[in-house]
Amino acid sequence: MSMKNSLIKDLENNLPRRNVLSSREECYAYSVDASNPKGDSSIADAVVFVENVEQVQKIVKIANEHKIPIICRGAGTNVVGACATPCGGIVLNFSRMNHILSLNSQNMTIKVEPGVIVEDIRKAAQEQGLYYPPAPSNMKVSTIGGSIAQNSAGAESFKYGTTKDYVLDLTVVMADGQILKTGSNTIKNAAGYNLTSLFTGSEGTLGIIVDATLKLIPQPEVKKVLMAYFDTTENSIMAVNSIIEKKIRPSTIDFMDKNALQTVERFYPANLRIDKECALIIEIDGFECDIEYQKDNIINIMKEHNATDIQYSSNEDEFNRIWMARRSSMGACAMLKPNVTTDDVIVPRENLSKLVKRIQCICEKYNLTPCLVGHVGDGSIHPQIPIDYKDETEYKNYKLAKSEIYKLTAELGGTISGEHGIGSAKKEYLPGVINAVALNYMRTIKQTFDPNNILNPYKIF
Ligand SMILES: Cc1cc2nc3c(=O)[nH]c(=O)nc-3n(C[C@H](O)[C@H](O)[C@H](O)COP(=O)(O)OP(=O)(O)OC[C@H]3O[C@@H](n4cnc5c(N)ncnc54)[C@H](O)[C@@H]3O)c2cc1C
Repeated sequence: MSMKNSLIKDLENNLPRRNVLSSREECYAYSVDASNPKGDSSIADAVVFVENVEQVQKIVKIANEHKIPIICRGAGTNVVGACATPCGGIVLNFSRMNHILSLNSQNMTIKVEPGVIVEDIRKAAQEQGLYYPPAPSNMKVSTIGGSIAQNSAGAESFKYGTTKDYVLDLTVVMADGQILKTGSNTIKNAAGYNLTSLFTGSEGTLGIIVDATLKLIPQPEVKKVLMAYFDTTENSIMAVNSIIEKKIRPSTIDFMDKNALQTVERFYPANLRIDKECALIIEIDGFECDIEYQKDNIINIMKEHNATDIQYSSNEDEFNRIWMARRSSMGACAMLKPNVTTDDVIVPRENLSKLVKRIQCICEKYNLTPCLVGHVGDGSIHPQIPIDYKDETEYKNYKLAKSEIYKLTAELGGTISGEHGIGSAKKEYLPGVINAVALNYMRTIKQTFDPNNILNPYKIF
């Protein structure tokens, strides 16, 4: 019997047959993610839909016996190849472990299985007047397991932080099948090393998350959004800095460059000013009584920095129109060429203006036309680059531009991911932003937690 057949037989003998997929077509569907790499990727040997912790432990045992990788998978929407299957293996699909286990409104915590969709966590919290802020923009499909593993962030990270700020405790099946608890059900925890933080952002390489206890906060009473246009990037960034200096704390300060404005307007018309150099999108929230104060201050600051066409969402339609424009940029960009790539670089805010300008120069040098959007309150920029992979010259240029953008980011004191993670797409660039000693310790941690290298191998480094 071939190795693959013996693996499938072991899986089918230990799990309900309906939970195991092994045909080439089925496995292919779960071997790719939203990273959209050039060329064919290797295909998983099997896909297993797990329903409980015991099944996860059984698979870990089988994987160790066969010395075969396990690749956890939520919705497969990460954009860095974090759940691609470069050396085959068993894809652990969590879509059936999608239950909210408990919500404690007094403690303001929620305990969930890893396959719960992030938006469902938000909805459950909202029913109790509570809020879960770190929702990636694709929260309607992405899972909490994937978000924790990538340490994802929502647009509101400027005010509320990222996923890591909301994870209190994780239950993890380790590479040897043991069960580890990382934290506690408390808001603070200074007992021992912070394993919760270590697992958050570990991209499925250190352990398999089987449940998570998350912190919730009170639901903001009101949310509004402002949009303002600028003739220069410098002015827009100066406006961002002034907002922060004046101690106003919007939940989001986002950015769209001219190309992004024009591309969105072309494919998803939203009444945007396409002659302007860039726009800021600023969301404010809080108590009703506080909103006017924030709004007036922000509008004054914008005007001081020569903003024009300042719009304020006085109703829900207007709120949705502005946000839809910002969120459509990737989809609009994808209409320009057969492929689109998105990236995620971040610098200290003082260098943001240089980052934007120099990314534009690098792309111009390589004949690429990116749409630049980003969470500029955090110092983060997403260059979205339309490209035709079949055009060898364009692809070569894209690779050169990407490498120069990462080098530039490092020179400006930044790093190559603020929220998307490293996966396989960025691993060759990690030494450019992480000190060699730190990288060695990371490898040692991986080796200690997963000596047989079965958990999502060859990702991150
Ligand atoms: C249109 C679009 C918009 C996006 N917007 C944002 C955004 O605003 N902010 C942002 O940060 N990201 C964003 N992303 C990236 C992506 O959505 C996030 O990284 C997302 O949180 C991944 O969730 P997922 O369920 O799809 O995880 P997957 O892609 O399935 O997996 C991601 C990683 O998690 C691991 N994993 C999954 N489940 C487990 C588990 N139970 N235990 C251990 N490891 C596990 C996988 O092995 C993999 O390494 C966006 C992506 C797209 C396509």
